Amino acid sequence: MNEIKRTDVNTLGEFGLIDHLTKDVFPIHTATKRGIGDDAAVIKGADDNVIVVTTDMLVEGIHFDLIYSPLKHLGYKSMVVNFSDIYAMNAFPRQVLISIAFSNKYSVEALEEFYEGVQLACRLYGVDLIGGDTTSSPRGMTVSVTAIGEGHQDRIVYRDGAKAGDIICVTGNLGAAYLGLQVLEREKQIFLDHPEIQPELDKHHYLVERQLKPEARKDAVEYFHEKGFKPTAMIDISDGLASEIFHICKQSGTGAYIEEAKVPIHPDTEELALEFKINPITCALNGGEDYELLFTIDPSDLELVKTMPDIFLIGDILKPGEGITLHTTGGKIVPLEAQGWKHF
Ligand code: ADP
Ligand code: MG
Repeated sequence: MNEIKRTDVNTLGEFGLIDHLTKDVFPIHTATKRGIGDDAAVIKGADDNVIVVTTDMLVEGIHFDLIYSPLKHLGYKSMVVNFSDIYAMNAFPRQVLISIAFSNKYSVEALEEFYEGVQLACRLYGVDLIGGDTTSSPRGMTVSVTAIGEGHQDRIVYRDGAKAGDIICVTGNLGAAYLGLQVLEREKQIFLDHPEIQPELDKHHYLVERQLKPEARKDAVEYFHEKGFKPTAMIDISDGLASEIFHICKQSGTGAYIEEAKVPIHPDTEELALEFKINPITCALNGGEDYELLFTIDPSDLELVKTMPDIFLIGDILKPGEGITLHTTGGKIVPLEAQGWKHF
């Protein structure tokens, strides 16, 4: 009897699986300037412009839980996470398409609330909602968003442009969204066990907001354009600092080190991490969903970057073979580990 081969998807991890499934995929059109492998694909546009396209999906029970996620916030977040991938290319989001599948537990009023968030994000980020698709689902809700952006071909920044000596920068504090999720999960459990107890969320307003209603760093990309320079490589932090550093290093063919003491962590993150008995740096390295921009710059651009309102210089790009390490506050050098991989 022939045995049918069956490999569990978890053996490859998320990125291994994408690589495996797309290993024979090569663009045939010269207009496809960059396909799979960056925050967004890049397509030749008119004159020297390019079109930048990205898509992201949110699934109820995996990416959101209606017990604590207001639908308006969910609509807002589903837009922002896509805009963030466009900014990560040093481009600007212009149009967006949204497809939703939902079960009959969703009312018109619930969907209206979701769309309030969608439209608010579009207004604030200056993006046109140009279409989508609507269908039913046997259970829960799935949201798939495709964002289209615009950029100049000479200004697009990929993940693969970092070189030894470049400085690693990040636009804001890390780990807060992860702890926001831990608070929400804790309060959910308390609520399920004791419905009479009011959730304690006000105290953790900042962390919860970072989780439920993140913002994309439009301002940073506007700054790069105003000052007329560009990072050498860039990625947005959706899976955690460690995972994103690995992407930059793998694609640029470099090593890197991060200085633990320089990684920005909000005081609320510090405080709650200790309460949860987690090392705050672990939240920053492996938490994810921060939607800050992680980028590398040539040292000659340092003066321009230093004057950015929110900027943290957290390490350097190293030569290939020099490894990817964390210089701990205790003076040790340890290999960085990317644990931001999602499991199925
Ligand atoms: P990000 O975290 O920035 O959204 P992802 O890790 O989701 O990026 O995706 C990395 C790259 O792999 C992107 O170029 C994305 O378009 C591509 N990709 C993800 N899933 C698939 C898939 N199922 N088939 C083809 N390409 C995919
Ligand atoms: Mg991204």
